[in-house]
Amino acid sequence: MGRIVTMGQIAIVVHGGAGPDSEFILKHIPEYEKGLSDAVEAGYSILKKGGSALDAVEAAIISLENNKYFNAGRGSAITAAGNVEMCASMMDGKEKKAGATAIINNIKNPISFAKELLKDGSLMYMGGAEATETAKDMGIKMEPDSYFITEHQWDAFEKERKKKGGQKKAYDKHTKRQHGTVGAVALDIDGNLAAGTSTGGTEYCQPGRIGDSSIIGVGTYADNKTAAVSCTGDGEFLITEVMAYNIAATVEHTGCTIQEAIDHVILVKNEDKTGDLGAIGIDSDGNIGVSFNSERMHRAWRTREDFGVKIYK
Ligand code: ASP
Repeated sequence: MGRIVTMGQIAIVVHGGAGPDSEFILKHIPEYEKGLSDAVEAGYSILKKGGSALDAVEAAIISLENNKYFNAGRGSAITAAGNVEMCASMMDGKEKKAGATAIINNIKNPISFAKELLKDGSLMYMGGAEATETAKDMGIKMEPDSYFITEHQWDAFEKERKKKGGQKKAYDKHTKRQHGTVGAVALDIDGNLAAGTSTGGTEYCQPGRIGDSSIIGVGTYADNKTAAVSCTGDGEFLITEVMAYNIAATVEHTGCTIQEAIDHVILVKNEDKTGDLGAIGIDSDGNIGVSFNSERMHRAWRTREDFGVKIYK
């Protein structure tokens, strides 16, 4: 992922979460690679036709939310209470407008609800049961609980429940949890940047927990003047670093490329962090970047010159 400064550049990067490796991931590498490749193509085909970065980000994330292998939408992690609680956010770098939602259920594509909130403008950040009701009123597609719960996530829930001897120790802070998230950043032909992030959170988490993914400036940030960024990893570590804005601000204040900014913030500034951290980004010159401190980060990218899919370093 190097420096590309071309007029009329279009670019998209997607991620499917940074975190610990697992036997499940190792067993399903082809499915993960196909899911990432499909997502990047869903977004890129919009950019190629002159569509907006915002629509490309939404299309890429919908593709990952609908894919049961990724922890967002269908296939979300299950809380200690045995239900799914999802979070998502989106930001438009042209207008600096955002939409975000936390602890929602039954919404098939949380990213589309975040986009509706962004467009609506009067309601920027909604959470809980009333958010789900508002989404229904807005005509957002709903699915029953059973749609979201996959066999893989249910097995993980059952295993953890047995290990914990019940459901009450979900907030044990020493537990290293499996987690995942999906995200996308895009640059369109008009030079507009957008970013989005969507998650099912961490496995067997305390109901009501909110990570970084729905927080603008932390999980998601976009500004046409600097960069679009989507983060992943342990939300509890990303939040206090105001991670997505931190990376964009590094581009703004130093004039470095997005790759240099992500490397610096994740690997240098936060080298002492014990939590998983990962980010993808595109800067306003069309350079793309990715960095992570974890065992793996599912990601794919496409520009006019380059295409790639990777899970490990
Ligand atoms: N950041 C997400 C959260 O803390 C999880 C992840 O990205 O893997 O909820």
